[in-house]
Amino acid sequence: MTFPTYRGRLAPSPTGYLHLGHARTFWIAAVRAGAAGGTLLFRNDDLDRGRCRPEFVAAMQDDLRWLGLTWAEPMFSQSERLPRYRLALQRLHAQGLIYPCHRSRRDVLEAAGAPHEGPGADDEPVYPLEFRPPADAPLPPLGETESVNWRFRVPVGRELVFRDLRAGDQRAVAGRDFGDFLVWRKDDLPSYQLATVVDDLEFGITEVVRGADLIRSTFRQILLFEALGRTIPAFFHAPLVTDDHGVRLAKRHDALALRTLRAQGVTPASILANFSVSA
Ligand code: GLU
Repeated sequence: MTFPTYRGRLAPSPTGYLHLGHARTFWIAAVRAGAAGGTLLFRNDDLDRGRCRPEFVAAMQDDLRWLGLTWAEPMFSQSERLPRYRLALQRLHAQGLIYPCHRSRRDVLEAAGAPHEGPGADDEPVYPLEFRPPADAPLPPLGETESVNWRFRVPVGRELVFRDLRAGDQRAVAGRDFGDFLVWRKDDLPSYQLATVVDDLEFGITEVVRGADLIRSTFRQILLFEALGRTIPAFFHAPLVTDDHGVRLAKRHDALALRTLRAQGVTPASILANFSVSA
C-alpha cells in the first residue's frame, strides 16, 4: 500500500503582524508536517487589496523564521494566481453551480435577521433563499472582468460531515447552517473560499491545519472541492488562543504580536514551551 506524501501549508494573510495564536497554529502545522516526513508550503493570502501590505508579508516570514519554522521556499502569493482562480470560476459557471448576486451586504444582513448564537456565531449570515434566482433561470455569461458578485448555490438540506483530526466529527446542513456563499467579488477578485480550494487542489495539499474559526468555512470548501476536484484534504482545526479576558486574539492585539514579544527579549524557546499539538 502506498500513502500519498504529506503536503501541508502555512497560509497567513498579510493584514497585520502575526500574534501568538498564529504562531501556535503554524507551529502545529510544522510539527505535523515534520512528523509525517512531509512538505510544508508557504502561501501568502494577499487577495484583500485594501488591507494587505508588503511590509506584513516580509514580517510574517521573518517572525516565523525567528520562531524556528521552516518551509519549502519560495513562498507563493495568491495575487499572482488570478488566472487559475478565473478558470475555476469558469468551471463552476459551466456546471451551473453559481449565479450573479446583486444584493448588498446590508440587504443580506437585514433579511437574515438577528445573528444566531453558539457555534458559528461569528460566521457570515445565511444568504436568504428568497434572494436566489430560480434554478432554471437563464445564467448570464461571465465577463472579461466581473462587476457583480457571484455566489455558489448550495444544495439546500444536504448534511455535510467531515472528521476533523482534532475536533472530531463536524456536521452542517447546507441552507440552514450556511447559505449561498461568494466565489467571486464585484471588485473582480476571487473569494477566500474559492482561492483556497483552488490552491489546496493544485498544490496537492493533503492536510489543512488552520484556526478553528474556519471550521464553518470548511463545509463550503468541501462543496467546492467536490465541484472542482474531489480530492478533499484532511483537516486539523487548531483551537484559538484567547487573551486574559477570554477574547480571541486578533491582529490588533499588539501586546501579543510576535514582533512585540521579540522586542521585549522573549525567546522562541519560551514561546514554544507553552505550545502543545493537542491542546
Ligand atoms: N489566510 C487565512 C487566515 O489567515 C487562512 C486560510 C486557510 O488556512 O485556509 O485566516
